[in-house]
Amino acid sequence: MNSLPENFLLFLGTSGARFSMMYQMRASGGMWIRINRKNFVIDPGPGALVKICEMLPDLDPTKIDAIILTHRHIDHSNDLNVLVESMTFGGRTRRGTLVIPEDSLVEGSSILLEHLRKHIDRLHTWQEDKDIDLDGHIRIRGKKLIHHGVECFGFTLESETTPIIGLISDTRLKDHWLEHFSESRILIANITLLKKIERIDHLSIEEVPYILRKLNPELMLINHMGTSILEAGPDNLAKALCTPLTSVIAARDGMLVDLDTGNIVLPGNNNDSKIIERIQNMVIHRGKRDKPEGGR
Ligand SMILES: [Zn+2]
Repeated sequence: MNSLPENFLLFLGTSGARFSMMYQMRASGGMWIRINRKNFVIDPGPGALVKICEMLPDLDPTKIDAIILTHRHIDHSNDLNVLVESMTFGGRTRRGTLVIPEDSLVEGSSILLEHLRKHIDRLHTWQEDKDIDLDGHIRIRGKKLIHHGVECFGFTLESETTPIIGLISDTRLKDHWLEHFSESRILIANITLLKKIERIDHLSIEEVPYILRKLNPELMLINHMGTSILEAGPDNLAKALCTPLTSVIAARDGMLVDLDTGNIVLPGNNNDSKIIERIQNMVIHRGKRDKPEGGR
């Protein structure tokens, strides 16, 4: 990729939940956002560091200013510690911000290694509806979602230079949190299922029209896609969801959104169908489990 725009968001990975992550049907590195020369990584799942280093020097893990974690599940947090190590320059500098749910830091089951904690300059735990100021005159405001018994937060991100960005992480659909995203012009939503499954706290493609009717963002980016969506063809699914007010696009690994112009730069085809063909006998048709445990 040639020189990156001034303000952008870039998908380091777009897979969602277990199997699309485990087999890396899509990468699982989360997102990199650069605004006002500050760099933020959101939900660094497995492979985030590798994906970042594939883009050196355009992206540089030692130049991360903040890591934002929506919840502790491994597909969102696996690379947290290596990125904290990078952000703090191998622990040599006390720098950077970490925003994380409180239940990710509980003694005995903290997902943040104890020895790294002291190198982080500012550590925030999410508080519902409370602003958190980040470097670069950027403000994020969290909203509690509903996700399989763990603390999980969505948030809006505001700056003077870019449109309001909303990020809906893993959750079950409820009106009470939906309102929080009503001013988002760019909405990134973790839509993991093709069809709604009552016992699973994940959003589905079926629920997108309702979300759009309520929020009407200019652009909706579908992220965190599970096998059922990848199998059905995310690009066509997204196309069918567009409304006169909202363009809906299925994110791709490496996809970049220029936050100044709204231009979207797509990398080559993800080639989902080929990958799915290769693994479907191993995964998709393998016996289904009775119920999710500590699900995702
Ligand atoms: Zn999850």
